[in-house]
Amino acid sequence: MKILVIEDEPRAAEYLRQGLSEHGYIVETALTGADGLHSAVSGNHDLVLLDIMLPGIDGFAVLSALRTAKQTPVLMLTARGNTDDKVKGFDLGADDYLVKPFQFPELLARIRALLKRGIQAAPENVLYAANLQVDLVKHRVIRSGNSIDLSPKEFALLVLLMQRSGEVLSRTQIASLVWDINFDSDTNVVEVAIRRLRAKIDDPFDVKLIHTVRGVGYVFEHRA
Ligand code: CA
Repeated sequence: MKILVIEDEPRAAEYLRQGLSEHGYIVETALTGADGLHSAVSGNHDLVLLDIMLPGIDGFAVLSALRTAKQTPVLMLTARGNTDDKVKGFDLGADDYLVKPFQFPELLARIRALLKRGIQAAPENVLYAANLQVDLVKHRVIRSGNSIDLSPKEFALLVLLMQRSGEVLSRTQIASLVWDINFDSDTNVVEVAIRRLRAKIDDPFDVKLIHTVRGVGYVFEHRA
């Protein structure tokens, strides 16, 4: 199991490297956000330990940029016990959060839990965006750790949008793909379904994923 530690304080980075190595993990360290982001995107780590307070590109910016490319589990580390930080971290797609100073056994337990979760989820059966997870097999939708109930049509609509992430879909396209009917004359049904879906998966959260493209349709996108 390969862990990337992004921590600017050399002694803390070394402490983590040594402690984790002793427990059998292969550890790579990065002392800046820029180096860490580069390693995280180009490498194949099983987990990233990410300090929030980094000079230059901070942990939030690293996380946000990483999530546009990869879903590597991220455990955020911070000296601040600030609830806002915690919420912001989760909204940006962090998987867990640990406040410094922490006990090493607690860190190990959190790492084991995250790695186990990563192995269990077959990636092709689960779609991810920011902190949203959609399990195609279990028909389960989770955002920020909260389970969300969707109707079968809402679920189909969300899956379509996520699978064509970044692509603008017209109301007519959506109508024919989700409802299998040609709604040329009346695409109001799509607008109503989008509104219901947004109320469940976007409205309660800071980071919006479904965007309206005026006069065209809708696009699903995690805009950092
Ligand atoms: Ca730091």
